[in-house]
Amino acid sequence: MRHYTILLLLTLMILQASLSHSEAEAEALFSAAPRDEDGRFTNPSGDLTHGTFSVRFPFIMRRMGTYFRSAEDAPSRVLNDGKFLRENARHSKPTVTWIGHATLLVQVEHVTFLTDPTWSNRPSPVPVFGPKRFVEPGLAFDDLPEIDFVLISHNHYDHLDLPTLNSLAKRNTETVFFVPLGNGDLLRGEGITNVQELDWGQTATFKGTTIHCLPSQHWSKRSLTDDRKALWSSWAVTGDERRFYFAGDTGYFPGFEEIGRKLGPFDLAAVPIGAYEPRAMMRESHMNPEEAVRAARDLRAKKALGIHFGTFDLSDEPLAEPPLRFRSAAGDTAFGAVGAWVLRVGETREF
Ligand code: ZN
Ligand code: ZN
Repeated sequence: MRHYTILLLLTLMILQASLSHSEAEAEALFSAAPRDEDGRFTNPSGDLTHGTFSVRFPFIMRRMGTYFRSAEDAPSRVLNDGKFLRENARHSKPTVTWIGHATLLVQVEHVTFLTDPTWSNRPSPVPVFGPKRFVEPGLAFDDLPEIDFVLISHNHYDHLDLPTLNSLAKRNTETVFFVPLGNGDLLRGEGITNVQELDWGQTATFKGTTIHCLPSQHWSKRSLTDDRKALWSSWAVTGDERRFYFAGDTGYFPGFEEIGRKLGPFDLAAVPIGAYEPRAMMRESHMNPEEAVRAARDLRAKKALGIHFGTFDLSDEPLAEPPLRFRSAAGDTAFGAVGAWVLRVGETREF
């Protein structure tokens, strides 16, 4: 009789364990993006302030002077004719190439994708007045390998560049454009139809890889009245061989720890390290290099690649400062300077 009782208890325990497992699976890993009463997206911590008028106005005046800022300290560029990347396209060497700013070409798990691709010279609604490009793209557009998909983090002009997206869609009608919720119409309005819109926590699959739309702490705006109508996000691409994370544009926030815990460790995390001055204005929406290192550690990244600096004149910090502070901050931690990657524009590295 005792044996039957023990057997019954064991069966019940096993049943309970499998039940809680399937319940956990059914529950989404991340909450959907929060919205205001008027339906506009916001951050879990609420709306960002972007500093007072007394900080913002002088900043905008200084930005007007970007025509005269020297490109002397811009990142160096290496010649990349794209031959290796075109030949590697269907093979398994995981590589990352810095095209400039937040644009990366990644080849992993037999797929090739771009993050926030821009080949334009001035990311702006009025290109004549926009911030100028200091360094030519690291790869000529025509030298690109076939692109399977594109990840877009948000609609700011330095990340969502319609001329480039148009060229990519024309070049290969099968290229899929993954965007956060609310960005699809902008692309479809341009005749780009192969678009998938995802909310935070939603995933898509592409040839054996899983594409995760994930939180970031930022905002969106392309016109005078469309503030936060379209969502912003970070992204992860995971498969059997590698786990890759792309932070987009973001301030430092607790989401990194959550993403690291649920989806980490990552083999490579691309984190923005520029556009952080003046702090009073940027603190909530852009990380400084020290915060980027902290984010990479929270994400449980084995290596962190510093991006979003030195390409466009967007903010007050000296051009050469972000990578120096990024390496130095990483060197001061258990993460170590060797784990903090800074590529030359056009450089390809295996990860
Ligand atoms: Zn942005
Ligand atoms: Zn940006």
